[in-house]
Amino acid sequence: MASQEEVFKKLVAHCKEYGFVFPSSEIYDGLAAVYDYGQNGVLLKNNIKQYWWDSMVKLHENIVGIDAAIFMHPTTWKASGHVDAFNDPLIDNRDSKKRYRADVLIEDQIAKYEDKINKEVEKAARRFGEKFDADLFRKTNPRVLEHQQKHDALHQRYSDAMNAGDLKELRQIIIDENIVCPISGTTNWTDVRQFNLMFSTDMGSTADGAMKIYLRPETAQGIFVNFLNVQKTGRMKIPFGIAQMGKAFRNEIVARQFIFRMREFEQMEMQFFVRPGEEMQWFDFWRQTRLKWHKALGLGDEKYRFHDHEKLAHYANAATDIEFEMPFGFKEVEGIHSRTNFDLSQHAKYSGKKIEYFDPELNQSYTPYVIETSIGVDRMFLSVLSAAYQEEQLEGGDRRVVLRLPAVLAPVKACVMPLVRKDGLPEKAQEVMNLLKYDFNCSYDEKDSIGKRYRRQDAIGTPFCITIDHETLNDQSVTIRYRDTMQQERIAISELHSLIQRATAMSTLFRKIME
Ligand code: ATP
Repeated sequence: MASQEEVFKKLVAHCKEYGFVFPSSEIYDGLAAVYDYGQNGVLLKNNIKQYWWDSMVKLHENIVGIDAAIFMHPTTWKASGHVDAFNDPLIDNRDSKKRYRADVLIEDQIAKYEDKINKEVEKAARRFGEKFDADLFRKTNPRVLEHQQKHDALHQRYSDAMNAGDLKELRQIIIDENIVCPISGTTNWTDVRQFNLMFSTDMGSTADGAMKIYLRPETAQGIFVNFLNVQKTGRMKIPFGIAQMGKAFRNEIVARQFIFRMREFEQMEMQFFVRPGEEMQWFDFWRQTRLKWHKALGLGDEKYRFHDHEKLAHYANAATDIEFEMPFGFKEVEGIHSRTNFDLSQHAKYSGKKIEYFDPELNQSYTPYVIETSIGVDRMFLSVLSAAYQEEQLEGGDRRVVLRLPAVLAPVKACVMPLVRKDGLPEKAQEVMNLLKYDFNCSYDEKDSIGKRYRRQDAIGTPFCITIDHETLNDQSVTIRYRDTMQQERIAISELHSLIQRATAMSTLFRKIME
């Protein structure tokens, strides 16, 4: 069996080979942590975005969308706290000259203790079989208790240091835990420094007239500064939400793991404005609703878990992540935050404008509280692809790589193939294309053997292949071949449209979410 790391490497190579993701400006050797989406990638990405957008704006009468500019008045970022506090603690290893996030090094160390405990439990479970009581084992086994105690002590020390912003202590933890650089293997660490993640540029042509502005590090602030515009012009009544998708930029210190951590990426965020005091009930609502959105795709319920935050951002009073099991472990894909009235109050303070809502039912004005759902398109893309990518050994010694993508997200829904390039079959195939292409993204392929053509479609996750043969000309039937089962059956051309419609309709997923 290939290790998860090898599988991940293969997935990255597959993304390039089949036109999903390319390194940016590759002919110049690429640009670190920046990627381009290819001909199939852009289709998958757009489908993910449509699935999210419709689940917000179409399914909820009280959620509307906007598309704010990437450039914003620089005071926005002063008010939001990003100028002063959007920092990561960085540390360099003097021997390898590699840079790391100090918090990530320590969190990985904490995770190592958790792994050790889980390994002990798994080992014992195998040994004791059915009689095994995992809870009791965790409470009593001396080795588990020892790891647990080290884990808890480190966890406490780390949270205290982060909460106090104590950079010296962060470094000391790294030294005391003997955390080594994975490249050089040494503990020859520099001091820990704060590093602001925002990219800046100058707007305006003259040197003295130029203004330093930032590329937005999140899309949310475009929603907050438009709160009054949308509420008034849309006559929105609380509770209501504003949704937005768009690019965000962060000068990440450590940008590895492919499109998991990029410097230019895309977010889909929704801010839901509620009455003060009702935020926890809406936090729970969105926590559940968002998990249902993920699970409806059918990638496997066991691949998701919540991770509640202990250290909350300065603006939040509750926060959780939805984590997905990537090839490199459970990782955050989406954050759900209760942001209090922090952002709107800050913008009111810095702009000098009154940003409040008059609640006719309460006959009172207040600054609304906010629940935010924030998901990265690219991380979602990676989670879908990593769950879908499979290498299969077939009967007769053949192998295939198949992307078992949810049909609703598949870049190409059906590929139409004439068996041979003569006898009127290509013309008939074009007729079938014309029947389908107005509603579904379809492709046409007449090169190579049918077997090779099937493999090509498997590799990009096309759920249906439709073959036109000589019989088709007589009886108007085609062979449809299913990606997942590789089964083939004969069906009438007139049935194709409704079959593909049923399998690829987003509405089926939306009903599941709203159940
Ligand atoms: P992390 O802890 O991984 O840096 P974060 O907690 O800073 O992420 P948020 O600020 O909550 O992330 O952003 C919301 C979402 O945006 C994340 O759940 C993730 O999906 C996405 N995201 C954040 N940073 C990046 C990045 N550098 N590359 C790709 N997606 C990102």
